[in-house]
Amino acid sequence: MELLAVSFSSSLAGNALFLARQHLCKWKNHSRFDLEAKFVRNKILNKSLRRGRRCLSEKTEASISCSTGTGEDPLIPVNQKLSDARVIYAVAPAMGHNQESHPESHFRVPSIVNALEKWELSPKFRGLEVIELENFNAASSNDIASVHTRAYVSGLEKAMDQASKQGIILIEGSGPTYATVDTFQESLVAAGAGIALIDAVVAESKISKSPPVGFALIRPPGHHAIPKGPMGFCVFGNVAVAARYAQRSHGLKRVFIIDFDVHHGNGTNDAFYDDPDIFFLSTHQDGSYPGTGKFEEVGHGDGEGTTLNLPLPGGSGDTAMRTVFDEIIVPCAQRFKPDIILVSAGYDAHVLDPLASLQFTTGTYYMLASYIQQLANDLCEGRCVFFLEGGYNLKSLSYSVADSFRAFLGEPSLASEFDNPAILHEEPSTRVRQAIERVKHIHSL
Ligand SMILES: [Zn+2]
Repeated sequence: MELLAVSFSSSLAGNALFLARQHLCKWKNHSRFDLEAKFVRNKILNKSLRRGRRCLSEKTEASISCSTGTGEDPLIPVNQKLSDARVIYAVAPAMGHNQESHPESHFRVPSIVNALEKWELSPKFRGLEVIELENFNAASSNDIASVHTRAYVSGLEKAMDQASKQGIILIEGSGPTYATVDTFQESLVAAGAGIALIDAVVAESKISKSPPVGFALIRPPGHHAIPKGPMGFCVFGNVAVAARYAQRSHGLKRVFIIDFDVHHGNGTNDAFYDDPDIFFLSTHQDGSYPGTGKFEEVGHGDGEGTTLNLPLPGGSGDTAMRTVFDEIIVPCAQRFKPDIILVSAGYDAHVLDPLASLQFTTGTYYMLASYIQQLANDLCEGRCVFFLEGGYNLKSLSYSVADSFRAFLGEPSLASEFDNPAILHEEPSTRVRQAIERVKHIHSL
């Protein structure tokens, strides 16, 4: 298939030729989660609900007010409904944003959803413990423009409008990032899912000491997208847009972003490089795409010191990341005193992932989910939302996200059923220690 190059630094974006792609997308009709949060508990809240919850019939929908206490479901008291939730997730799979054989494929999110069903981690099996936020609005152009330039947003939108024939455009110098006729709208939906989860988690934190963790199961991913354009499979900076939204709409001034994707989150890094109120902490494989994220990149101006980059040597794995969590992430977050923690959750540091060479395991991701949830409970009243970034081996991706859900639920990990210690090599412990000591020195930790 021919790919047409489009650069958003010129007006060519509006003249791109698209090959219109028909697709089926069953995730439509989104409307903004607001004070009246509309949750749909898929199908049945079965009779074996934990902690003796009531049974509701199939296809039950419940409109739940997070802030006013005026629920519509007569069977369950309002506060009980949300306070029972341990995880709230939203799904935005971008089924029309796909390029054949591209690792960032439209199979990624469905593979996670299927895993949640398979391991009985979905609302169908968990009742009110796990809630899918199903009706939410796409982000607005203004939401996106809080991070990206207006020229980029309007240029991409114009490109969509002019799609008249089947095709995929390849965006010049972006890493490579492609776009289809659906890319603009589906990217708005992905960002909107994150925004809706911010609303939901913040609302719940006002009435519960341990609100549910939010998880945006979304694509295209976002952490490489720079203010002026897309990059590295990423279109809009979902986590960055959500951070600005949390500040603007909820008065959550101080945002702590943890990015454990195997690649440096250069887009998020750039968006907040001068901002003292948003701490960006990225762990990534040294030398991997896009080559940024050096130790010395610590922020600029008023934001000096609120960016922390830790490139880890290839082969770093579970032991390295546990040490990083204890010695870097925890003291950084404690010192920063965040109002909310957002997570760029990339699963491409898994040992089975094809795009990089770290050795995280499913158990590593369980640990990160559990510890980050605890950190949020300790520091910011439990406000915490995860955003899916990378992860290109569908099995390790889906197993790892499922095990993250188990962590949020306070249940034992099942990672040992998936992880195979025999394929792991010895971690480069000396070089890991050197990297940790270097970043501790730079940041006075
Ligand atoms: Zn990545």
